[in-house]
Amino acid sequence: MDNKMYCNVCGRELYVKNGMLLEDAFEAKKQWGYFSRKDAALHSFVICEDCYDDMVEKFAIPPEVTTVTEL
Ligand SMILES: [Zn+2]
Repeated sequence: MDNKMYCNVCGRELYVKNGMLLEDAFEAKKQWGYFSRKDAALHSFVICEDCYDDMVEKFAIPPEVTTVTEL
C-alpha cells in the first residue's frame, strides 16, 4: 500500500512507491519551541521541485548552494 504524498503548495500528487518518494522534493519539519507562538507544535510539509524554485525566487537572499559529491 502506497502512502500518498502531495505538494503542500500546489497540491500535486508526488510519485511515491513502497513508501519511497521517487521524485525529489523539499521535505520540511519544524518543531516549534518555547520562544515561538506555536506551543511546541510540529509542522511538516512537502514542496515539489517546481514550487521550491518559485519559492526561492522570492527570497531576498537566495539559498546557499554547495555541491555534494557523495550522496
Ligand atoms: Zn508543487
